[in-house]
Amino acid sequence: MSQRTRIIVVGCGVVGAMVAYELSRCPDLTVTLMDGQLPGHGATGAALGILMGVCSQKVKGRNWRLREASLRRYHTLLPELAALGFSVPYNAQGILSVCFDRAVLPRWESLQAIRELQGWPLEIWKPEQVAAACPHLAPDQIAAGIYSPCDRQIAPKALTQALVQAAAGNGVTCRFQEAVTGFELGWDQNCDDQRSLGERCVQAVTTLRETYAADRVVLTAGLGTGALTAMLAQPLPLGPVLGQGMRVRVTSPLGDPQFQPVINGDDVHLVPLGGGEYGVAATVEFPPEEGMALEPDSDLLQALWQRAIAYCPALAQAEILETWHGLRPRPQGRAAPVIEPLAGFTNVLLATGHYRNGVFLAPATAAIVRDWVRGQ
Ligand SMILES: Cc1cc2nc3c(=O)[nH]c(=O)nc-3n(C[C@H](O)[C@H](O)[C@H](O)COP(=O)(O)OP(=O)(O)OC[C@H]3O[C@@H](n4cnc5c(N)ncnc54)[C@H](O)[C@@H]3O)c2cc1C
Repeated sequence: MSQRTRIIVVGCGVVGAMVAYELSRCPDLTVTLMDGQLPGHGATGAALGILMGVCSQKVKGRNWRLREASLRRYHTLLPELAALGFSVPYNAQGILSVCFDRAVLPRWESLQAIRELQGWPLEIWKPEQVAAACPHLAPDQIAAGIYSPCDRQIAPKALTQALVQAAAGNGVTCRFQEAVTGFELGWDQNCDDQRSLGERCVQAVTTLRETYAADRVVLTAGLGTGALTAMLAQPLPLGPVLGQGMRVRVTSPLGDPQFQPVINGDDVHLVPLGGGEYGVAATVEFPPEEGMALEPDSDLLQALWQRAIAYCPALAQAEILETWHGLRPRPQGRAAPVIEPLAGFTNVLLATGHYRNGVFLAPATAAIVRDWVRGQ
């Protein structure tokens, strides 16, 4: 093993970029970040970057721990990137979840009590408070508003690019438009019994151009991770879940221009993008059968749009600038995300399958990867 540990991170969506940046801050590592495309062209390129922590219904266990750790890290990360000269578009005005049904209010009240104990504010607004703060929402339908001032939204592609540049500035080697096509295997030199299964290791990562020697490999290839683990004879069931959204423009900002939180109602997010533009997303579309191709369903996008107009009628006048879709990587038969060593290998870590929360959970994921790389 060389003096500096050589780490290869395969896949540069938001997760790989965050991992590379976090590792670039460790002086004893030599990091290479690889992607078959340019950064942020997978699921990350389709995400709206909503960071749903305090207003999510997760209150304990691994999922809440990841969310809370990510919330805290975002709080320090963004000033850190700004100090390096990378400012990432970021909405710090919180998330307002609009509640249409009084019957679900007790659930929000109990969440509010738990969050208070955890030290996170969560406000429950009466309909008149919602109307005063967000006059663009249809008041007659609203039973309450749940306002989470500490939740955030961030531009995922800009974040990914900033992380890549910051990581490169810290010495990370970037190899983009160069897909990983195979691995060279060996036996872990630290193990006495070199024949038994479970002590294999990846010695190098190969592409059509080159072979890169590695001491440790982190697989952050989103939906592409399954194909990579298959090359290592370890299946990792990951399936795509399609999401569609649209970007629209109104002639003047919806509601109060000084208060533009992300709004979430009836499973539709309304995300202010600046300049009178808003993102409206996202559908959740499963393949009809496992392995079948997944095409965007225009009826589902239309239904999403109508639900958005129902709670924010001014959208009916909006100009639709574009529609888009992407595929979320979802682990099958287990909870998202998958952050663990690859079975049968001593030096391969999976950090993938973040499904609907990869942008949000990237910082907590990167911290786990860093601790693994450093043997903690
Ligand atoms: C419509 C939509 C809305 C979303 N909204 C949100 C949101 O608001 N908040 C949130 O937190 N999450 C959201 N998500 C989910 C989020 O986008 C994903 O969880 C996240 O982007 C996953 O990031 P990733 O880096 O793991 O994967 P990806 O972004 O898919 O990146 C994987 C990368 O690996 C590369 N790769 C694959 N195979 C190889 C190979 N063999 N060699 C080299 N490179 C390879 C790919 O080219 C790709 O760049 C949304 C998703 C969609 C589709």
